[in-house]
Amino acid sequence: MGIVRIGIDDTDSKRGMCTTYLGAVVVDRLRVQGHSLEGYPKLVRLNPNWHLKTRGNCAVSLDVMYIQSELEDLKELVLNTVQELAELDCETTNPGVVFYSGKSIPEVLRDFSGSVVKGIVEVEDAERVAHQIGAEYHKYKLGRGIIGALAAIGEKFEQDRTYELLAYRTEDYRGRERVIDNESVSEMDKKTFPRTFDNIDKRSGEIRITPHTPCPVLFGIRSQDPIAALEAFHMVRTSEPIERWIIYQTNQATDAHLLESTISDLRPVTSAAVRGKVSKNPKVIQGGHVIFSLRDGSDEIDCAAYEPTREFRNVINKLEVGDTVRVYGGVKKKTNLPLTLNLEKIEIQDLSRIYLKVNPTCARCVKRAKSEGRGKGYQCEVCGQRFPAGSETYVEKPRELQLGFYEVPPRARRHLAKPLIRIVKGKSAHAQQ
Ligand SMILES: [Zn+2]
Repeated sequence: MGIVRIGIDDTDSKRGMCTTYLGAVVVDRLRVQGHSLEGYPKLVRLNPNWHLKTRGNCAVSLDVMYIQSELEDLKELVLNTVQELAELDCETTNPGVVFYSGKSIPEVLRDFSGSVVKGIVEVEDAERVAHQIGAEYHKYKLGRGIIGALAAIGEKFEQDRTYELLAYRTEDYRGRERVIDNESVSEMDKKTFPRTFDNIDKRSGEIRITPHTPCPVLFGIRSQDPIAALEAFHMVRTSEPIERWIIYQTNQATDAHLLESTISDLRPVTSAAVRGKVSKNPKVIQGGHVIFSLRDGSDEIDCAAYEPTREFRNVINKLEVGDTVRVYGGVKKKTNLPLTLNLEKIEIQDLSRIYLKVNPTCARCVKRAKSEGRGKGYQCEVCGQRFPAGSETYVEKPRELQLGFYEVPPRARRHLAKPLIRIVKGKSAHAQQ
């Protein structure tokens, strides 16, 4: 008895399909043939900043037990399912399938997976690693999918993991509006949150378990543990039949995309966590985006809270020069502009004390005197009394921010970003939901 690790990626398009669905079909077909899986199937979200990412930007992998005589049939079943279901007519869909029968995951493969989630990897890199470890790969068209397929095999979620139960629609319903009983979702959320999360945007009331794409997913329930997802699944009422469902183990909501970094080490197309001090006050720019500058011992960078992050911007707007923060987000480089970090969340660690200068008051007129210019003292505009330079006082500006974590609202959050509800207890979290 051996284990063959199967990776699949890049099978979807904007028109339809979803690699998670293809994975679910493969699992069901394998079960019919008597095969069982070792552990949970894996759903691996890849670097969200990559310009060539697929719609869902996720790859799947399955560890399947087999006896030698079955191996060729098993591979054929997988390849046939990909041929049958992948959106091969779509130019940007370039599926890849990888089979790996090694007993354990070699270090070179684990490192490769880390690079695919956190950085940029080319097809040639995937082919080189596959040759090195003796993995078999199948490219369809450009075969870009072998990158994610191989990465999914190597991913062990050693730091952190969550689960997602995905329920799929029958063919007749795909492309039509999804009808879910919102009340049943609220009820489910009440009973299972925070073991399940992201069911509802608590501020807007928007149901978050249904996608808005023509893909076969009816809804998905994200959870801390597989049992919670299953409990929640049975509470959701819908008026359409469910073709099949599956529970994936995943790196969603784990911050697996983030690198701890200094500002000078930040690179475009990666995501990072950086600690520093606010070096330029926030300003609102055209479009309603809020930008401030952050400095550490190495360099300075602009940090942006874009318009879709809504109320999160109100927090960012209250920062002041000297505040100590840790920022989390994707690093972007736009032509002719400096690097910008697109904020996913922020931890405010220390607030600077801001003192506001108050001019002396004329006791007779009960009015503040006016400055005559730098170092020149003050004069009452009404009676003309003069006050020497240095007679001003200072008051501390009340800060409206509290220390702790703040995050963008659920609708603006990346799949990989760890929501505050999952961040260690004991730290102050001001969820924006
Ligand atoms: Zn006066």
